[in-house]
Parts: sequence; structure tokens; C-alpha cells
Amino acid sequence: MQKGTIGVASENLFPIIKKFLYSDHDIFLREIVSNAVDATQKLKTLASVGKYSGNMEAAKIEVKLDKEAGTITVSDMGIGMTADEIEKYINQIAFSGANEFVEKYENDANAIIGHFGLGFYSSFMVSDKVEIITRSYQDGANAVKWSCDGSPNYEITEVEKEGIGTDIVMYVNEESKEFLEDARLSEILNKYCKFLPVPVIFGKEQEWKDGKMEDTDKDKQVNDVAPAWTKKPVDLKEEDYQNFYRQLYPMGDDPLFNIHLNVDYPFNLTGILYFPKLKNNVEIQKNKIQLYCNQVFVTDSVEGIVPEFLTLLHGVIDSPDIPLNVSRSYLQSDGNVKKISSHITKKVADRLAEIFKNDRKQFEEKWDDLKIFIEYGMLSEEKFYDRAIKYFMVKNTDGKFYTLDEYETAIKDNQTDKENNVICLYTNDEVEQFSFIEAAKNKGYDVLVMDSVLSTPMVNKLEEKFPNRKFVRVDSDVVEKLIQKDDAAQVEISAEDQSDLSTVFQAVCPAGKGNFIVDFQNMGETAAPMVITRNEFMRRMKDMSQFQGGGMNFYGELPDSYNLVVNAEHPLVKQVMEAKSTDMTETLKDVNYNLAVKQAEKEGLVKAKEGKKEEEVPQAEKEQLESVEKELETLSTEKREKLTQYGKENKLSKQLVDLALLANGMLKGEDLNAFVKRSIDLIK
Ligand code: ADP
Repeated sequence: MQKGTIGVASENLFPIIKKFLYSDHDIFLREIVSNAVDATQKLKTLASVGKYSGNMEAAKIEVKLDKEAGTITVSDMGIGMTADEIEKYINQIAFSGANEFVEKYENDANAIIGHFGLGFYSSFMVSDKVEIITRSYQDGANAVKWSCDGSPNYEITEVEKEGIGTDIVMYVNEESKEFLEDARLSEILNKYCKFLPVPVIFGKEQEWKDGKMEDTDKDKQVNDVAPAWTKKPVDLKEEDYQNFYRQLYPMGDDPLFNIHLNVDYPFNLTGILYFPKLKNNVEIQKNKIQLYCNQVFVTDSVEGIVPEFLTLLHGVIDSPDIPLNVSRSYLQSDGNVKKISSHITKKVADRLAEIFKNDRKQFEEKWDDLKIFIEYGMLSEEKFYDRAIKYFMVKNTDGKFYTLDEYETAIKDNQTDKENNVICLYTNDEVEQFSFIEAAKNKGYDVLVMDSVLSTPMVNKLEEKFPNRKFVRVDSDVVEKLIQKDDAAQVEISAEDQSDLSTVFQAVCPAGKGNFIVDFQNMGETAAPMVITRNEFMRRMKDMSQFQGGGMNFYGELPDSYNLVVNAEHPLVKQVMEAKSTDMTETLKDVNYNLAVKQAEKEGLVKAKEGKKEEEVPQAEKEQLESVEKELETLSTEKREKLTQYGKENKLSKQLVDLALLANGMLKGEDLNAFVKRSIDLIK
């Protein structure tokens, strides 16, 4: 028997392991089983070059649980170790500057384990004592047992062991009893070892017998040694990709497309990514991309490795070149990792281009599900934008798809404005904006449906990229003005009448629903008497403010602003105008007269001031002007109040405004009820 002290420079290693690595305790099994895989593969390699004559075909790894003894044992049929190798690989742990490093990465077990090559020692996170019973493949090697109880002291003795390979026996400590449960071990094996390249056996297959589940004598293998991503794309059928998806996410819906990644230069990377079907645009992502290193599961938080917009995808990435055992922040600044990220972006873009080119019909069918990824990508990665713009699709209200270039060709004759901009009309809600869509179509315009959560920023992005294409929502103006082809004819209503009528109509606009600005337009006798529109710019600014958040929410806080566009040529509008003149001339006679007098007085005073410096104007004149202005203000208010009063009682105006609100889906509840009653009264 040999005794010794583990070569840890100054401090004792074990308290560090136990103290700092508490968060990810379950990785001990990943480490021990991966060592077993490595040992098996090394021996396979030796066998393949004739340096070992044993048969490796049946090589497997077994995980055993002994609840009575309180042990977990991992056995392999790999290369094994001689006593000298144990001394070299297990006992001598180069360990300088340990404390500083550990403190820095105290919550990152991967970093610590990687830094110190502590894979094997992670077993002490869960064990009071660990034994290695091993026999090297080398001719005449004796089996040895290494044993260590968590102090820096170990023992090595010679033992009997059948066959070559290594057993790691872990005496599970009091705090880690949870790992002595079959279900818990199965769970960990399923998480980390599901796709390891050597069969991993844990327990027996079960079958239903005499009313309960019973063990059979067939070993239960927990892993698929050759998962789809390790195969060549030519050897896989569509069905294999679908099956693999189900292996990864048993509960998931069928995916839309897959992308097989297979790179060997300048780094190694394999994997399969899937475009999942999102039930709705904002569904929270439970299934994530899984990152593997030589088929060992590492993590499912791939931020930094995969561009953000692709973290919505599903699937696996496997690369021995991603430095896994480092901290996250390091990962994000690593040049190799950046290359991987841009490579993945390129592959995804190329795959979509391929489907678009070879199977446009399928591409269009799946577009509604795909567009959220593509829009997200185009908005967040310039390189992706450059590729995707060629197959970015727009769909019109008839369900027809176009690329942007095709669309421009289709509409430019009819939808170019006087400044030579091609105007793309769009709706984000076909039901709510129905009357606007109809009006546009009747005028021969085409209308796009842009109803994704990212449509607003997307429209901004496209306008920035194509300064001569403008996007205008159908309800942002009356149809005559959506695409301004020549200067509109002037409305024949005096400025005073326009101002009076504005007050009358505003009096019947709904209170507390935003600002209504009244605007008079010639829209023809057959068009609607009034239309409510929302200015494109203001509305878009408000929509965009949702995406910005933070303190800069200036537009977000403004009240909604609407235009009440009054059709000056409509007979009913004319009727309101005439009625107002007849009804109000007498009522407004005095106030109008006074206003005229005061206005003249003000003009005189302003004229007298002209050309004089501020200090040359006599104080008395200044005061007089101030008081005239105040009187004018009071008179205007008086007039406005009279008109408002009149408006409120004017059933026809109320009815016309309500009809416009109704067409916009803005008339609801009590207001709608009152409208119905008033309509009946008017018909009677
Ligand atoms: P790493 O695997 O990162 O080298 P470990 O602490 O996990 O670090 O293992 C140290 C060394 O011990 C390994 O490189 C290997 O040489 C040896 N070793 C560990 N487990 C086994 C095993 N099951 N069979 C043979 N050798 C092993």
C-alpha cells in the first residue's frame, strides 16, 4: 500500500470544491461519465491502429446505484490507468493562484472545473469518499485502487479486477442523498448524456407484468450514440430530421424547416437548427437550442454563441472549438465564438434563400410563421438583412405574395405620388380598417397586410433603406390624399365658416378619447360625409415608443390624435353648414360684431407699434394692446361656447361623427347604444 498527499500547492482543494461549486452539483455525473467516454474512445483508437487486440464492439459504460451502500458507480471498459498514471493524472494537480480564480468565478462551476482540469474532482462535490478501481490495457498491468476521503491524503493499493477499464465509486455524502434516487439519476443522465457516443447503461428496461412495472433482464441504454447531427446530410431524410426533433422536444409541434450545420474550417461545428412553429408571436420559449461539446451536453443558454434573433430557433449545436469552460463574458468577446455566430447567421440566411428559390410555394405557405424570425433578424443583424431582403415577402389583402421588388413593379404605375415616391398602402387590422381598405381598393390601389408585432419597426427600416418607397397605413388619411398625385382643389368654405363648423363638430367628438382635429376636404358627393384618420407619422412614433421603453417615451405619452376629415361636397355636410348659418346668425350677431370691432382696434394698435423699438412704445399703448387682446380672448371663448352648445344639440352633426366613429370601430358601449336610439328617432 502506498500513501501520499495530493499535490495541491498550498490550500486544500476540497473545501473549495464544496464551497463554491454548490450551484451545479449535478454536473459531477457529466464529468465522470465523459471521462469514461474519453477512456473508451482512446482504447478504440488504439485498437483501430493495432495497438490493442481486444474487441471493443461491446464497449459500454454502466452507471450503478447501490442505495444500501450509498454509492454511485460509473464503470467503463476503456483504457484504464496504471499506478504511475494515477500519480501523474490524478494526484498532481497544478494548482497555483487557485483562491483568486475561484473567488472570481465562484458562481461558474464550468469555469472552475475547466481551469483546473478538475473534471474528476467534481465527484467530491457530492461524495465523502471516492475510489478509483482501474486496470490499464497495457500488458501485465496490475489493477489498483485509489481511495481518498476528501482530505488531501490518498491511498493506493493493489486489487483484483476482472477485465480492463475503470470503476469510479462515489460514496455519496449526507447533503447529496437526492442523487441516490433512480429518478434523479435518470433525469441527470437524460440531461447531459442523452447523445454520448458510447452506450451508457443505467438499470433495466421495464415491462408491465402482473399489474405492475417490473425489470426485465434487458439493459436500459440511456443514450442515442449516433444522433442525427453527427450524420451526413445526404444520409438523412426529412423524416429523420422530424424524428430527431421529437427526440429533443417530445412535446413540441412539428417544426417548419431544418438547417443542418456542418463546418470544419476555420472551426469545427455541427448541428441541426429548426424553425419552430410559434403558436403566436410572443409565445415564451421553453424549448431552447442545446449546446454540446463532442456530444456532451453543456448548456441551453446559448446567448453570445448564437445571434440573439436565432435564440428563438430550436435544435442543437455541437462544437469542440467553443471554449466551454470559461465564463460567459469571456465567451462573448472571443473571436472564434464571434465567427461561429456570424457563420450560423449566414447558414440560416442561405437555407432560407434555398427554400425560397426551390420551393417558393412552401415558402409562402409558411411565411406567416417564419416572418417573425426573419423580421427580427433583419432588424437586428445588418448582414442578415442584406441576405434576407431578397426573399422578404409582403402579402396583400387578397393573400398574394410578392418580394419587395416584385411589389414595386406591380404597383408603381398606379401608386407613385407627385414626388416620385412609390406608396405602399398597408393595414395592420383588416377588420377594423375595412372601410379604408375598401375605399383604397375602389380607387384601384393595392393594400398590404402588415400585422406582425414587428411591422412598425420593419416599415421604418424599409423606408430608411429605400428612400423612394413609403409605407402609408390605409387609415392615415382619406383615400384622396393617401397618394398625393396633384394638388387637391381648394375647399369653397370661408375660413370663418370652417372655424365655426370645426367647433360644432368637435362638440360632438367623444370626450377623453384623444384629440380630434377637424379638416375640410373635397371628396365628392358619393363619398362618406366624414372620415376619421390617424396621421401616419404621429401614430408610428407612438407605436415605436413601445419598442424603446425607458425614459425617452415622449411620443408614447402624447394623447392619441385623430383627424376628423369633413367632406365639404357632401349634401349632409352642406345641410349642417346651412343650418348653422340660419340658426346661429342671430345668436352670434353681437359677439361677431364685438369681435370685429376689437379686432380692428387691435390691428390699429399693432400698426402704431410697427417700426418702433420696444422701449419707444409708450407704456399706455402697451397696456391698451394687452387689454384688447384679453377682450378678444374672452369674446372668442364666448363664441366658442355658443357654438359648442349649438353643436351638442345638433343631432345631424352627432349622427355624422358617430357614423365615422362606427366605421373605425371606435363607437362602443353606451355611445353605440345612444347612436342606435338616435338613429331610430331620425328615421321615425
Ligand atoms: P480532464 O478529463 O479534463 O483531463 P480529469 O480530472 O477529469 O481532467 O481527469 C484527469 C485525467 O485522469 C484524465 O485526463 C485521464 O487521463 C485520467 N482519467 C480520468 N478518468 C479516467 C477513466 N475513467 N479512465 C481512464 N483515465 C481516466
